[in-house]
Amino acid sequence: MSGFAWYIIVVTMRSFYISHPLTSPGEVVVLPEDLRRHLQSVLRLVAGDVIELFNDDAIVARAKLTADGSVSILETEEAPAPRCDLTLIQGMPKGEKLELVLQKGTELGVNHFYLTAMTRSVGQLKEDRKHKKVQRWTKILQEAARQCHQYHLPTLQVDQNIEQIACRVGSELKLVLWEESQTSLLSVLPASAPQSVAVVVGPEGGISKEEVSILEKSGYIAVSLGPRILRTETAGLAIMSVLQYLYGDLATG
Ligand code: SAM
Repeated sequence: MSGFAWYIIVVTMRSFYISHPLTSPGEVVVLPEDLRRHLQSVLRLVAGDVIELFNDDAIVARAKLTADGSVSILETEEAPAPRCDLTLIQGMPKGEKLELVLQKGTELGVNHFYLTAMTRSVGQLKEDRKHKKVQRWTKILQEAARQCHQYHLPTLQVDQNIEQIACRVGSELKLVLWEESQTSLLSVLPASAPQSVAVVVGPEGGISKEEVSILEKSGYIAVSLGPRILRTETAGLAIMSVLQYLYGDLATG
């Protein structure tokens, strides 16, 4: 098949997340009822149509729909590992802003999201709503990954303590975005691409000096993103775009 024709098939092939092992060609996978219904009743796909499936192990499969709504696996491959593993540690924002950060961050290739309450967080995550909220946020990640063909499904951890997260995240380069810092981003970004980068972004109220020093003790470098004060939902997306451009696949495909 000529390159151009192949390109059209790959770009237009619909992709779906499935929480199921995708092992070998010829295997028959019974689709979850909601996905089966969506394919057959909403998208009007029929037996013989080919779709793309990906799972939690970043296995991508081309699969053919069968008459009974299951699929027969045609081929599988493991999605290449991200060039630079990106972690966004987000101070709990108010309202629906987090949903925007999760969706757009996934499109920009964020691999791990941590959500944490910070001293100046206005948004609170009540314990009795946490389970439902995490379910909704997980769905948002799955849908965003499906839409942008991000086959390494981002992870989400909700922790109430920035100190615990700071110690747990072992990225090679660790930054905390702090508008009071005199350190420029350019001065701390290494010429050779780090394997992994973690970035802390404060909530609407900002990050306290105490939190910045806790983070610095764990190896985070406080950096400025220039003279403008970005909203919490803008700052994370801005830095992830820069990192994906410099160290990931935004510039080089
Ligand atoms: N202290 C800010 C103010 O005076 O309005 C409020 C915090 S800002 C809305 C939310 C977060 O975005 C900050 O905690 C920081 O992590 C990040 N941020 C925004 N603008 C920044 C800048 N120019 N340099 C570094 N970080 C910035």
